[in-house]
Amino acid sequence: MVKTLLITGGSRGIGAATALAAARDGWQVVVNYRSAKAGADTVVEAIREAGGEAWSVAGDISREEDVLAIFAAIRARHGSLEGLVNNAGILPRIGRFEDISLARWQETLAINTTGAFLCCREAVRLMAPRHGGKGGTIVNVSSMAATLGGAGEFLDYGASKGAVETLTIGLSKELGPDQIRVNAVRPGLIATEIHESAGDASRAERLKSNVPLGRIGSAEETASVITWLLSDAASYVTGTSVAVSGGR
Ligand code: NAP
Repeated sequence: MVKTLLITGGSRGIGAATALAAARDGWQVVVNYRSAKAGADTVVEAIREAGGEAWSVAGDISREEDVLAIFAAIRARHGSLEGLVNNAGILPRIGRFEDISLARWQETLAINTTGAFLCCREAVRLMAPRHGGKGGTIVNVSSMAATLGGAGEFLDYGASKGAVETLTIGLSKELGPDQIRVNAVRPGLIATEIHESAGDASRAERLKSNVPLGRIGSAEETASVITWLLSDAASYVTGTSVAVSGGR
């Protein structure tokens, strides 16, 4: 049976690498993007050229109407969903806690936390046997900031990812009887464009001396842990967070 996987924020970075890796594992991949259609379509084309199946869907995951439309499209096209990777996220600009505006705090939590909540809720409505589903697997992309805190850089980001990890624990317990596994990955310093949005494109390079393995990680190294958690090789793994951080 071909299984369908939704990856939010799949137009670049960790999401794009996960889409490509999951397609190699046999998933039929739905690549969500907010504005970067060209990036998402490039990922879809690469999957199709390699013999896989994929399509892209627009939607801002912080908007309930967009999330409902994404899941309605999946229901119409596939009738079911077996996998979800809550990957879409933003990194706010580096700054001190007392300078965080309410608008910025709310935007960070709206995308990083509420977006994951909305997608998890709609996924359960497709995956749970009591709703006609067959079970499934969810991976939430957290961050080492969930445990390090983001001090001096972005406490709102750390808090938004901490909430995602607590959601992961609670959901794994509530959904275990539905045969839905829920896990998280905690990337450390990964080479993607996200650091530019924090106002310091060289951030990962600057901080890499704090990494026991002594280097920045790649989107592909993160994707391989996400796809492992999605796979049957992790069939007895739920409610955990796996750090992909080089030991940081
Ligand atoms: P990235 O290169 O900036 O990619 C982020 C992706 O999320 C883009 O495809 C973007 O699409 C999408 N996105 C952002 N807001 C969205 C929204 N409201 N709705 C739908 N899509 C949205 O970032 P990345 O480094 O791959 O990060 C992926 C995840 O890993 C994030 O959750 C991030 O917090 C986490 N993470 C990354 C690192 C790191 O060092 N890179 C470390 C820890 C955790 P558009 O361009 O279309 O908006």
